[in-house]
Amino acid sequence: MIFDPSRYVAPGIGGPQGFKPIRKNIYLPVQAQVQEVCRENDLVKTFVFEFGDPLVNQEFTYEPGQFMMVSMPHCGEAPISFSSSPSRGGSFALTVRRAGRLTTAMHRLRPGDTIGVRGPYGRPFPMAELAGRNLLFVAGGIGLAPLRSVISFCLDNRADHGDITLLYGCRTPADICFADDLEHWRQAGVTCLCTVDEGDGSWPGRVGLVTELLPEVEVDAASWRALVCGPGVMIHFVVSRLLEMGFPRAHIYTTLERHMKCGVGICGHCFLEEKLICREGPVFSLNELDDTRNL
Ligand SMILES: Cc1cc2nc3c(=O)[nH]c(=O)nc-3n(C[C@H](O)[C@H](O)[C@H](O)COP(=O)(O)OP(=O)(O)OC[C@H]3O[C@@H](n4cnc5c(N)ncnc54)[C@H](O)[C@@H]3O)c2cc1C
Repeated sequence: MIFDPSRYVAPGIGGPQGFKPIRKNIYLPVQAQVQEVCRENDLVKTFVFEFGDPLVNQEFTYEPGQFMMVSMPHCGEAPISFSSSPSRGGSFALTVRRAGRLTTAMHRLRPGDTIGVRGPYGRPFPMAELAGRNLLFVAGGIGLAPLRSVISFCLDNRADHGDITLLYGCRTPADICFADDLEHWRQAGVTCLCTVDEGDGSWPGRVGLVTELLPEVEVDAASWRALVCGPGVMIHFVVSRLLEMGFPRAHIYTTLERHMKCGVGICGHCFLEEKLICREGPVFSLNELDDTRNL
């Protein structure tokens, strides 16, 4: 199908998906101040932000799976997913992999520094539909960031959720993110299995692809829901295995990344399979995606 821009109009105040933008003019960033910086590994840092305006801090809400458009002067703007849970109000966290101009500048941020943000944008994970379900999370590398938002939300609302299992794969032990959270989640009753593609001398854990962990966990494909996030090729192979295990396509959710400029359905940069990732995603159930080979 030919891209039809008329299908994608700019959201008005209040937004199309019930989100609540922090400014009436959705294109104007507001300033957020760094409160904490946590180094996850050589390439990844987690930043906790608060808004300078206490009223904005108080009113700001988002949902797991949504993202912010983040900007710094002379460095451009890029979408970054929330890695914190909205249940821990008053601040929000973004986990950033050093990739290019903006993210390299962000890695130099210290507590007290400010960035520009607009949002929250995008369709979140369907938390109401996931309530009461047993959940299988499969993450690769920094793909754990948006899933960390969901896992933290589930643990903060423990009575609303069933069993939680996390399968986490990284290229090497040095690429693991959220090591402290993994420990904390284990203590909170989450089944966490971790694997690396390539071990080092001191790695005591499993070596192999994250898909190899799937046969090790007891999940009922008919009743569990699966949430998958990571590099496109990893999503493709994990999803293929989940389908072989009997998961219905509608019970598998993933969150996709495409380069985007506006974040609100105007620029068309993130067009995939007749969808705009920014507006119709970034979270999709698998029955909304025809082909996972080119993710
Ligand atoms: C919904 C969503 C959520 C995201 N969440 C996170 C997150 O939580 N954490 C995180 O670290 N990243 C996240 N990203 C990815 C992040 O937005 C990109 O890595 C972004 O490009 C970084 O900006 P930059 O200026 O640092 O790098 P850029 O200058 O944009 O460069 C990054 C890399 O992309 C290449 N590139 C640049 N422009 C294009 C283009 N038009 N087409 C193809 N390749 C290009 C560059 O060569 C370079 O290798 C997310 C992306 C999306 C869409």
